[in-house]
Amino acid sequence: MDRSVMGRVIADTERSNNGVDRRDFLKVCTMAAAAVGLPASVAVQWAEAAESGGLKPSVIWLHGQECTGCTESLLRTSRPGLAELILDLISLDYHETLFAAAGHQMEAALQQAMEANAGKYVMVVEGSTPVKENGIYCKIGGTTMLDLVHEVAEKAGAIIAIGSCASWGGVQSTPPNPTGATGLPEVLEGKTVVTIPGCPANPYNFLGTVLQFVTLGTLPALDAKGRPATAYSKTIHEHCPRRPHFDAGRFAQEFGDEGHRQGWCLYKLGCKGPVTHANCSVLHFGEIGTWPIGTGHPCIGCTEQHVGFETFIHQTVEIERPTPPDTYPPVEEVRHGISPAAAGVAGLVGGALVGAGYMAARKAAESGGEEEES
Ligand code: SF4
Repeated sequence: MDRSVMGRVIADTERSNNGVDRRDFLKVCTMAAAAVGLPASVAVQWAEAAESGGLKPSVIWLHGQECTGCTESLLRTSRPGLAELILDLISLDYHETLFAAAGHQMEAALQQAMEANAGKYVMVVEGSTPVKENGIYCKIGGTTMLDLVHEVAEKAGAIIAIGSCASWGGVQSTPPNPTGATGLPEVLEGKTVVTIPGCPANPYNFLGTVLQFVTLGTLPALDAKGRPATAYSKTIHEHCPRRPHFDAGRFAQEFGDEGHRQGWCLYKLGCKGPVTHANCSVLHFGEIGTWPIGTGHPCIGCTEQHVGFETFIHQTVEIERPTPPDTYPPVEEVRHGISPAAAGVAGLVGGALVGAGYMAARKAAESGGEEEES
């Protein structure tokens, strides 16, 4: 990155002094750009455009069947500044949870946002859409969620399903799924829907997608499930800080045991990291570096359809060679102060000595016998 440009942006943003740590502003842009595979120079452009007031994409945010955890994740961070920074970058023109308005005022705001930004606004859906019995199980202002998503999608410039519920139905879509909870790509079949699964979704993946669409007019490259390919190309397991323990065969066997306290691999406690594609392990979003595996809880696979809410937490996933080959020295446990590896070496040495002694005695016996015979 051009350091002089970076310095200028930081200086300019610091001068704005609106109560937010403006260095964080550029940091947020850089992390959002990285999440969707864009270079840091694009982040500088975003920061400059936002500072000049030229970057405030209109976002219409709908809620279906969900817990509002994705909104909470976006706004209720440990550093309050981040919420303000995000709101500096997008114009949240309709949000059923955050709006102070209610009733007819809300409905008027939605219509106004759709008319004023037709063809350009970003439609964000949080939560699944119930489709059984024409969608009667979720209504907003007398309109079913099913009708609402079709209406808002009609004039949207881009459509984003944020969180696992919006992406493929989430926990409420698991059997018996009494309301017919369905993910947005299925409801809006035929339209391009960017899915940003996660429970909650990573705000940087969301922000990077929105800003790329607004500044470059494109969407990130998507994988077969509609996820931004860069953000979801690798498994958690590939970049997990506990991976060296996995490779060495050091596993926590139960919660609270010595291995668990030592920070060993959580695979045997049901970690789904080996089959879960997401960037949580490298792009934390709790602002204090916490994430499930970091706090000692196995990954539940929330970004992966048919894994996150359809397997038991303790259930281990199929993985090729979950433990090191037998030829590796066993390093899992230490017994009586001597590791099995050391015991193995001692056994080999002892065995060699016993074997050598046996062979020497046998030779001596054979030779003695011959002498006696001769
Ligand atoms: Fe990390 Fe889970 Fe893989 Fe262990 S199994 S290395 S805890 S992702």
